[in-house]
Amino acid sequence: MTNLLDFNQQQLADYFLSIGEKPFRAKQLLRWVHQSGITEFDQMTDIAKVLRQKLTNETRLTLPEVQLEQVSGDGTRKWLIGANNQKDSTNSSIEAVFIPEDARGTLCISSQVGCALECTFCSTGRQGFNRNLSVSEIIGQLWIANSSLRKSDGYELLPMSERVISNIVMMGMGEPLANYDNVVAAMQIMLDDHAYGLSRRRVTLSTSGLVPAMDKLKEDCPVSLAVSLHAPNDALRDEIVPINKKYPIKALMAACERYLVKAPRDFITFEYVMLDGVNDTPELAHQLLDVVKNVPCKFNLIPFNPFPNSGYETSKPSHIRVFRDILMQAGHVVTVRKTRGEDIDAACGQLAGKVLDKTKRSAKHISIEAIV
Ligand code: SAH
Ligand code: SF4
Repeated sequence: MTNLLDFNQQQLADYFLSIGEKPFRAKQLLRWVHQSGITEFDQMTDIAKVLRQKLTNETRLTLPEVQLEQVSGDGTRKWLIGANNQKDSTNSSIEAVFIPEDARGTLCISSQVGCALECTFCSTGRQGFNRNLSVSEIIGQLWIANSSLRKSDGYELLPMSERVISNIVMMGMGEPLANYDNVVAAMQIMLDDHAYGLSRRRVTLSTSGLVPAMDKLKEDCPVSLAVSLHAPNDALRDEIVPINKKYPIKALMAACERYLVKAPRDFITFEYVMLDGVNDTPELAHQLLDVVKNVPCKFNLIPFNPFPNSGYETSKPSHIRVFRDILMQAGHVVTVRKTRGEDIDAACGQLAGKVLDKTKRSAKHISIEAIV
């Protein structure tokens, strides 16, 4: 049975046309589901009864299942969401994390169960790839977070016109551009005025650098872009971000320049995980400046979040400061990630990692606040 939650507005309009209905039903349905939080066709009062019955009989609106919701002392919230493991039908999970700040609320969303790209410092990468999330599983994370926040203390009096979730980062588990079609359709729903109506500037996709998909994204759905650079030369990047062997730094920088022509912001955010003694020397900071010289950018330094048997350690704070200062003295905006929600393991990948992986190769921190 078709899950209408898997469709963006265009696909919904096509569906309604195919059953002899007017395409504007798509907008009505999106508003009910995403703005009013209604997933029962019966309650959609401006849709004719006969059509409601038909939709009930022939389609469904199924959200992914929430396994656990946790709230941290600092207001960070995390939802552990069921995502069946296709390889062996065991239960696995993905997660969405909400980070409240003074002027905004950011939701970090997952795009895949696991990841095939095997970055050596990433716990999701070490789990390997399981499967892509469907559109309903991706947009469902936003639906779940939004409706749960609306009901929770401190938010219940907020007028519907005011957003609790003002920013989205596609920085949870998985490589979003490796699940291109579903991620783009889900982002189109985030941007749709009849659904969440977020501006392109407030939706940020993070990629390890899938060059052809970056080129496609700038045409199909240009949103703010963060690129996981992590190393300023191919020898080192080949080692820690293996996709670099396919799309080396020069090609990646050229893709960033092309992306900016259509991007909603006039800079790319470069993420750079700080690995002690691996990529954090002053010499490499200078190399980094040279590598990005043609790309207007900001830097987001992410102290490595260690996990057992990772083989890496977090850079020393003094080394991070020196590295940051070199970039700043060259005129760049540089932010260093702060940890949020530690008491509930809200660093992306953490709890899902623990559920999945008995060896507890779990913790993964992401950088959120500096990017959005
Ligand atoms: N696959 C995408 C998005 C998800 S990862 C990407 O790689 O960009 C989000 C960010 O967290 C990336 O910059 C990633 O490199 C970083 N990250 C992964 N593991 C980490 C760890 N153990 N410590 C700190 N940052 C990590
Ligand atoms: Fe995949 Fe991103 Fe982790 Fe690399 S850092 S393995 S691309 S999730």
